[in-house]
Amino acid sequence: MIHFIDGQFLAKDSINVSIDDRGYYFGDGVYEVVKVYDGELYTAEEHIERLFQSASKVKMTVPYSEQQLIDIAKELVKVNGIVTGHIYMQVTRGVAARVHQFPNPGTAPVVTAYAVHNPRPMKTIENGVRTIIVDDIRWLRCDIKSLNLLGNVLAKQEAYEAGCAEAIFVRDGIVTEGSSSNMFGIKDGVVYTHPASNLILNGITRRVVLKLCEQNGITVKEETFSPDEALEMDEFFMTSTTAEITPVIMIDGKAIGSGEPGPITKKLQEAFTRQIPVSVVG
Ligand code: PLP
Repeated sequence: MIHFIDGQFLAKDSINVSIDDRGYYFGDGVYEVVKVYDGELYTAEEHIERLFQSASKVKMTVPYSEQQLIDIAKELVKVNGIVTGHIYMQVTRGVAARVHQFPNPGTAPVVTAYAVHNPRPMKTIENGVRTIIVDDIRWLRCDIKSLNLLGNVLAKQEAYEAGCAEAIFVRDGIVTEGSSSNMFGIKDGVVYTHPASNLILNGITRRVVLKLCEQNGITVKEETFSPDEALEMDEFFMTSTTAEITPVIMIDGKAIGSGEPGPITKKLQEAFTRQIPVSVVG
């Protein structure tokens, strides 16, 4: 596969990254994942805009324009022949001897990107997934898509060890989000999700779903709910760029609603599929 690093498109095996990269030492960088459907980038502008916002929040500059990053992503799709998959993009604060404070202002950020083939996860989209609840031990800037993902990594591992696909974070008695997804509960026809704040990543798929709810006359309340309230929801689902809208059918061993993907979730999935450029499902 051909990757992008600092202005060049190179074969993966020929790429060397410095051991002094601050991404390696500190997780000092930000990233994005952009979905590719039918060889086309999906909601790329929104993702690239969020990359710039994440960079700005950690006082980092991105040495390319938004359009240049989109062009790089498009080139990766083309040269790697991606039909369904995604682009991963990362910017670190650059290469410098290991001290915590920022390196000299002239230090160039390191931009890398690659493309992968990745089919839509139709099995979990159709059947739903099981989840567990874990403590949200992360820092208080979850709105930044930072390379620092240890809290998320530990949570996802705990879920996998419990035979589950995702961990649902709870902070101070409130469901925040998933380890790599946003969480939605549905009660009496109303969709609830944690408001966009410093405690969650405001997912691009989350924003698409909020818009789809509006377009389809489904009431949304960006209001918090507790784990006990989550267990009493009629339906539950999670969203992310790669998981799309995935039904959550079980939380901590308890079935949600009927224990099967619910009607409003399915309606939103259908609306989602209608607006992505996919000629063939899967
Ligand atoms: N929340 C977290 C912690 C994530 O890591 C992700 C995506 O990876 C999301 C939410 C969903 O965001 P998006 O829909 O932009 O992929």
